[in-house]
Amino acid sequence: MYLYNSATHRKEEFKTHTPGRVEMYTCGPTVYHFAHIGNLRSYIMEDVLEKYLRYAGYDVNRVMNITDVGHLSSDADTGEDKMLKGARREHKTVMEIAQYYTDAFFEDCRKLNIKRPDVVQPATGCIDEYIAIVTRLLDKGYAYQAGGNVYFDTSKLDHYYVFNDHDEEDLAVGVREGVEEDTNKRNKNDFVLWFTKSKFEDQALKWDSPWGVGYPGWHIECSGISMKYNGEYLDLHCGGVDNAFPHHTNEIAQSESYLGHPWCGHWFHVHHLNTTSGKMSKSKGEFLTVSLLEEKGYDPLAYRYFCLQSHYRKALVFSYENLDNAVAAYQKLIGRIAALNPQEGERDETVFQQYRERFLEQMGNDLNTSMGVTSVFDVLKAKTNDATKLALIGDFDQVLSLSLLEKAEAKRVEDAKAKASAQTTGGYTVTGEGDPEVDALVMQRYEAKKAKNFAEADRIRDELKARGIEIIDTKGGATWKRV
Ligand code: AMP
Ligand code: ZN
Repeated sequence: MYLYNSATHRKEEFKTHTPGRVEMYTCGPTVYHFAHIGNLRSYIMEDVLEKYLRYAGYDVNRVMNITDVGHLSSDADTGEDKMLKGARREHKTVMEIAQYYTDAFFEDCRKLNIKRPDVVQPATGCIDEYIAIVTRLLDKGYAYQAGGNVYFDTSKLDHYYVFNDHDEEDLAVGVREGVEEDTNKRNKNDFVLWFTKSKFEDQALKWDSPWGVGYPGWHIECSGISMKYNGEYLDLHCGGVDNAFPHHTNEIAQSESYLGHPWCGHWFHVHHLNTTSGKMSKSKGEFLTVSLLEEKGYDPLAYRYFCLQSHYRKALVFSYENLDNAVAAYQKLIGRIAALNPQEGERDETVFQQYRERFLEQMGNDLNTSMGVTSVFDVLKAKTNDATKLALIGDFDQVLSLSLLEKAEAKRVEDAKAKASAQTTGGYTVTGEGDPEVDALVMQRYEAKKAKNFAEADRIRDELKARGIEIIDTKGGATWKRV
């Protein structure tokens, strides 16, 4: 596979420390609020990447943290802990907030067909690991104590900015909230490894440490959790592009200083989901969630389809118009798959392998998901039988996870039900969603109209309307749907 590596600034062949095995780490959510669909764009693309690697034959160990402590309002270690902010907003404890939004996050993931990583570790569960890393960093002279906190000394490194090809706007994220400088820092980019003192004394969660009672900085969590579950050599680290600086830059600084050797081979950054007025973010107050999309009648998987249509290294603009286009394309695709006949022919092994190779190659070109979706259309157009087509679509969907076969089967059943219950009287045919009682009422309305009994016809129409059923006139009759 060829994958763009933010650390080397080029697309390169993906290689792992141990052949055939991928140690993969993902920055998980900060669980002080619902994930917005921008956050979920990152998780969708990372999910496709993980599934692609498995599909290509790798054994993957995927680890994710849950940030339930230490992520301050500014990524540059100032402001209030986001968790505390969430707890205050909802008059709950930090742990209640963490549990509630962790569950909500995985519920969103379930709706979007995002697989749960092999290891999910809340940051509060690995305090001893962070203390061990900070202790060694102090021993080796990479860290110092000032004003009660422990800081990493970035002047000790020859090469601190690893991802310097990112947009200025992304790099500036750490200072986005106009926060004041921390005067304990020796250098502008030094960052907190362990807090004991900060201007908000009411931090809810605190632990004993050699430097006093306190709590870990946000960056140390990811290094500690990854080293615990992925080992000393990480192959692939993922996150949204705003995490590149300072978060990932600081992870590299502390991990490599601690280990004394290179740490992570490959950095995968997903670019932002923007609204027409800029990056979608929680600090702006208004943000879209999966539940909100559902309330508006959208299938969460249509949002997944929308994300797959564009490349992860390009900013994606969200608008309802764009989403509606994705819904139409997704439904059309499902309709075409539903029209295939599973009984037609036997799977042709040569054709199957040929298309599978092509899919592997296209997706293996820097995770080209839009080509991955196009591959499904190519299969539909292929000169082969329907059994082979369905086998290929099911195979590709192990990576795309759009529930293509399940949705097509459901549509087939629905269409068959509607067809079976279709009523025809005197050339007038009623179809619908497969309820004979409703079909009969629509037919009675037609007969009432024919007999010029308009009051009765209107009564039936109103009765159906009250039940949430809409009648649509068609060429030779009518159809109905639940709205
Ligand atoms: P957080 O819960 O704030 O720690 O963020 C969770 C993940 O979402 C991180 O990998 C972020 O980089 C990513 N992220 C945040 N905002 C966006 C956005 N608008 N589009 C895509 N990814 C984002
Ligand atoms: Zn992280």
